[in-house]
Amino acid sequence: MTNEKKVTVIALGGNAILQPGQRGTFAEQMKNVETTCQQLAQMVESGKYKIIITHGNGPQVGNILLQNETAKDVAAPMPLYVCGAESQGLIGYMMQQTLHNLLVDKGKGEIPIATVVTQVVVDKKDQAFQNPTKPVGPFYSEEEAKKLESEKGYHIKEDAGRGWRRVVPSPDPIEIFEKEAVRQLVEARSIVVASGGGGIPVVKEGEKLVGVDAVIDKDLAGERLAVDVNAKIFLVLTDVDQVKLNYKTPQEKGLSQITVEEAKKYHAEGHFAKGSMEPKVRAAIRFIEAGGERAVITSLDKAVDALDGKAGTTITK
Ligand code: ADP
Ligand code: MG
Repeated sequence: MTNEKKVTVIALGGNAILQPGQRGTFAEQMKNVETTCQQLAQMVESGKYKIIITHGNGPQVGNILLQNETAKDVAAPMPLYVCGAESQGLIGYMMQQTLHNLLVDKGKGEIPIATVVTQVVVDKKDQAFQNPTKPVGPFYSEEEAKKLESEKGYHIKEDAGRGWRRVVPSPDPIEIFEKEAVRQLVEARSIVVASGGGGIPVVKEGEKLVGVDAVIDKDLAGERLAVDVNAKIFLVLTDVDQVKLNYKTPQEKGLSQITVEEAKKYHAEGHFAKGSMEPKVRAAIRFIEAGGERAVITSLDKAVDALDGKAGTTITK
């Protein structure tokens, strides 16, 4: 039997880069990234995994949009999908450097680490384009909102009494366009950061690609990536240690080991909140049904234990 390293796609939640209440200075983000990378470095050190990292970008792309908006009279603002590309570079840089520096301390500084600016193909006919739901960017007054609606064709919605906000479609990821590049890098021993922020949404015009203003769920895009590169393990790291039934009720119960059939049943029963845990469980189900070996959902600090089956929620066939 060979001791082959298992290709593992790790989807990092928002808290891996920014904690609630933080302003998001570079120093703050780097400090969080360092804590996150300590876990990743342990996984690398164990020698059991070939890792591919994907991550959210909500606060980062929010700030880039705000900078664009504020400076629009002096520097040409970029479309949302370009801001997404910028955020992949920003976060990729932080991860590449921090993980490298930690690996140097472990005598593994020679391992290559690369970020791939990643486009994710979505379907022009996806129902989501008829019904934009995902809020992005700054809050506006009602007057500003109406102006943006008529001048730029933005869809704007009132956001829970907090003000007006642009909403964009959240279509399903169909294909990680750079999957072959990612696969080759992993094959060549690189640690890869890819599909950040759910990827840059693009649609196909024949064989050509064009960017669209949308936001793809990063857990669903991470699952797509995992299948596209033949990963064995899909590891989702968030801010709860386990997936719970009857979450935040007196009957709350953590799940340790479940089958995909059980996951589907609980999913159908509505145990997982839309926009947070639901896409993670949906992504885990998809991954196992597509032939993945196991999907693990846990908190950042329990990553290593969860992979050893000592923490977290593991979903298998
Ligand atoms: P991330 O940035 O990691 O994607 P999210 O906020 O989108 O984080 O998702 C994680 C959140 O999902 C948890 O903080 C938790 O409040 C929420 N959640 C909703 N339903 C459940 C559930 N059934 N079990 C555990 N957590 C849940
Ligand atoms: Mg989320």
